[in-house]
Amino acid sequence: MKKASTRPGKELCPVSDRCGGCDLLGIDYERQLAQKNQRLKKLLSGFTMQLHPIVGMENPAHYRCKVNAAFGLDRKGKPVVGRYEKNTHRIVPAASCMLEDERANEIVQEIFSLLASFRIRVHDEDSGYGFLRHVQIRRGFATGQYMVTLVCSDPVFPSKNNFVKALRSRFPEIATVVLNVNDRHTSMVLGERNIILYGKGYIEDQLCGCTFRISPGSFYQVNPPQAQRLYETAIRLAGLTGKETVLDAYCGTGTIGIIASGRAKQVTGVESNGDAVRDAVWNARCNQIHNIRFIQMDATDYMERLSSGRLPDGAENRVEVPAGSENRPDVLILDPPRSGTTPRFIEAAARLAPDRIVYVSCDPETLARDLKLFRAKGYRVLEAQGYDLFPYTEHVETVVLMSRAKD
Ligand code: SAH
Repeated sequence: MKKASTRPGKELCPVSDRCGGCDLLGIDYERQLAQKNQRLKKLLSGFTMQLHPIVGMENPAHYRCKVNAAFGLDRKGKPVVGRYEKNTHRIVPAASCMLEDERANEIVQEIFSLLASFRIRVHDEDSGYGFLRHVQIRRGFATGQYMVTLVCSDPVFPSKNNFVKALRSRFPEIATVVLNVNDRHTSMVLGERNIILYGKGYIEDQLCGCTFRISPGSFYQVNPPQAQRLYETAIRLAGLTGKETVLDAYCGTGTIGIIASGRAKQVTGVESNGDAVRDAVWNARCNQIHNIRFIQMDATDYMERLSSGRLPDGAENRVEVPAGSENRPDVLILDPPRSGTTPRFIEAAARLAPDRIVYVSCDPETLARDLKLFRAKGYRVLEAQGYDLFPYTEHVETVVLMSRAKD
């Protein structure tokens, strides 16, 4: 007799019980979208505004263009590859995943099957011995380029050239292979040092007509087609005519600001992560954009300094700006992490008084919390729309337009 599955949707994924990556497995996709709409409606019910229906995917499978596979030993000491069981460091062996890019899954399997002939030992977390810990595959969605990052405990990989050759003979779309050294006992996947084994050490993707660089450690939305729709809406709602000064807070590698720059007078991106700022500067140069600059700084600190007239000295400002452009933004775009922004940020934003604020959120709860503070400071919430960037999971992205109430 067939064993009863313990979780709905188990027929879609044999390891769903242990992996737990798909919170919504077993729920029909239309219903997933309806549930996400319902959640937004409830959280945003206190605001009088237009809430447009969430934008879903036509084919909500294999959408993740970034895949992390963990390598280790099973209880019998045999090498395994898979994903971590939710909130643990136990590996659930799995050859593929319905959320992840299929070709990336094939590359991971090929690497696994090459281990024996290249005498590569996988890392054992308990003893600390062994070479290969993780493999990260990233795909440039529009370019079709793949990047393979081998996360290893040691920088020395004697058979690297033949290994890369063997891998690329089956997957010529692999544009670069990087060895990332992670010799610490840590839950972070990537270590700090990258050694290029093949190619340029990064890949590129295109989004909204602009080119973006993806390097092993940099943030880039894992679902580019949906991210593109989200960004297009954010920029449309910003209502740019070419005359505005735009502040792109929490700008990451500069995606939103760079896409918006063609329709703005001047854009400033603020981001605390130095690697992301470096990529943002490169992205701006590569797209030949001259009316954008990036500042590496805590977004709240920057807002406070700007609103009090104390210009951010000591902050990294790696792209030249025309003099006199350091003034109050006409439009503020913010895309904070899940924790949302801070009351101090919102207070400083209100002092700077941009006409329009576009809030791109990856957590509806912190969004609702922050919108209340913006409202208390005189901003009206006009429109909101959800975007499903992560089907089969609980995550919801939302774009919200606010405008300053005229008194
Ligand atoms: N807008 C970008 C990135 C959004 S992710 C995109 O769409 O690709 C959120 C970004 O906020 C990350 O790059 C993170 O490094 C940055 N961040 C987190 N806390 C920050 C802070 N306190 N100040 C400035 N940036 C911050």
